[in-house]
Amino acid sequence: MMLKVNNLSKVFMQGQDSINALSQVSFALESGQSLALVGPSGSGKTTILSLIAGLDQPTTGTVEINNTQLTDLSEKQLAIFRAKNMGIVFQQFHLMTHLTALENVSLPLEIQGLVSDIQQKASEMLDAVGLQDRKNHLPHQLSGGERQRVAIARACVAKPKILLADEPSGSLDTQTGLKIMDLLFATAKDQGSSLVLVTHDLQLALRCDQQIHLSGGKIVSNTTNMHPIIRS
Ligand code: ADP
Ligand code: MG
Repeated sequence: MMLKVNNLSKVFMQGQDSINALSQVSFALESGQSLALVGPSGSGKTTILSLIAGLDQPTTGTVEINNTQLTDLSEKQLAIFRAKNMGIVFQQFHLMTHLTALENVSLPLEIQGLVSDIQQKASEMLDAVGLQDRKNHLPHQLSGGERQRVAIARACVAKPKILLADEPSGSLDTQTGLKIMDLLFATAKDQGSSLVLVTHDLQLALRCDQQIHLSGGKIVSNTTNMHPIIRS
């Protein structure tokens, strides 16, 4: 298994109140497979993704990626593990505003300590997402769709074992959003990366091999496609 989520719970404290964002969530994802997390706003989708990414700690439960338990890693080890094994795409792109497209895409390679060929690899990845003419642009000089292409290039440049995407087309118009999703599915497939996709869109969810529906921080159904729709 590429990803094992065991009994994950997350309680947020807000003043006197405790919010049960996730309750006893368990699921697994095989290598190279894709999984959609679907559910209404506030159902815990982003919380799951941040816990899988190790950006936040669970109240109880564990996340295992490629046989490594995230809680066994120090902050520094986790940063390196993330750069080597994970690619993350957010709805709001989260690019470094003062860095060019090429520099943004170079970052994960620098974090994992690569010394040679960084520029070359980042440059090839930008070619692959169709941004050969935008390498030296800053994020504010790019359209929303182009920014998300940079974010996908950054997420994929280190050929991660697992890609995490939180509503990646959520802030784009329908046409651009569809192109971005095609690109994400195609890149994941090319690289053999597993994909965890958070989405509101049921059609999009059906393009994944597995769909988990969440409500109030709990899993209400976990379905695997008998006949997965051919992607890309
Ligand atoms: P979704 O991504 O499905 O819209 P979230 O995972 O963002 O849902 O949120 C799940 C629940 O946890 C919501 O009730 C939300 O208000 C709450 N929540 C999320 N993050 C925090 C936080 N940092 N502090 C307090 N409550 C939070
Ligand atoms: Mg969310």
